[in-house]
Amino acid sequence: MKKLILLTVCVASPLAMPALAQTGRYDTMTMEQKIAAGAGYHDESAAVIEPFRILGNIYYVGAADVSSYLITTPEGHFLVDSGVNEMPVGIRANVEKLGFRIEDVRILLSSHAHFDHVQGHAVLQRMTGAQVMALDADADALEAGKDLSPLGFEGWEPVKVDRRLQDGESITLGSTTMTPTWVPGHTPGCTTWSLDTEDDGQVMNVAIFGCNGPNAGVQITNNPRFPDLAEQTLFGFDNLARLDPDIYLTGHPEGPFESIEHLMRVQMRPHPLLQQQLWSEMIAERRAAMEQRIAEESR
Ligand SMILES: [Zn+2]
Repeated sequence: MKKLILLTVCVASPLAMPALAQTGRYDTMTMEQKIAAGAGYHDESAAVIEPFRILGNIYYVGAADVSSYLITTPEGHFLVDSGVNEMPVGIRANVEKLGFRIEDVRILLSSHAHFDHVQGHAVLQRMTGAQVMALDADADALEAGKDLSPLGFEGWEPVKVDRRLQDGESITLGSTTMTPTWVPGHTPGCTTWSLDTEDDGQVMNVAIFGCNGPNAGVQITNNPRFPDLAEQTLFGFDNLARLDPDIYLTGHPEGPFESIEHLMRVQMRPHPLLQQQLWSEMIAERRAAMEQRIAEESR
């Protein structure tokens, strides 16, 4: 049986504040109120921390509670998530501190098109010359510079998407292949990226997991902008259930499912991110919680 190592995206902190938890709350908020609600991701959370290797060819180059992952290969690197506007300069410094060149980042990916994960994309695209690739449904938001998810939060500088990918359409640099799993709900094109990495003589399958269904406070059933949000969300969990990673990494490492301290203990074996709970159990639990939320809304 496979044990699980875990690292989550966007399930925690300001966007899940209790005050915002009422269903449909986001439909009546002004953009000003939304920006205020997400402000936490622009301050201490966005302060870039010392970079470090997590395992294999995967490095943490992000901030205290907003992730950015560098995946290195001899043929150039992947970067997953660019964080908020405050982060690209620090991400570049972190890549260089690790001994890599920012110009060698060849492919810029995203976990999902929310401001705290893609606001730095346009700047990093210019800094690196990387190709931006994204699943179709989030590519629209990247290019529009707007949050097209049910949250409808703050936007970003529009980004040219060089290549639109479909569910499961892998991309390879050197010996590393990244595979996108489409998990709609949190955003229309929310993506869990999977890769194999060799660590200490062992091949580990790692998922970068940022899609845990619509944020608390989003109306799932009969959402006027997203009439099929419930079906999409459950489809997403079914798609996740097909994966079987050894480890997963998330977009907000101070969230309930991981911590920077865990991520940093890179020399320990087994790595502290190896969890006892099976991926399949975790996804089943989260799917059940989402079904219950949908059922409660329908009452
Ligand atoms: Zn998000």
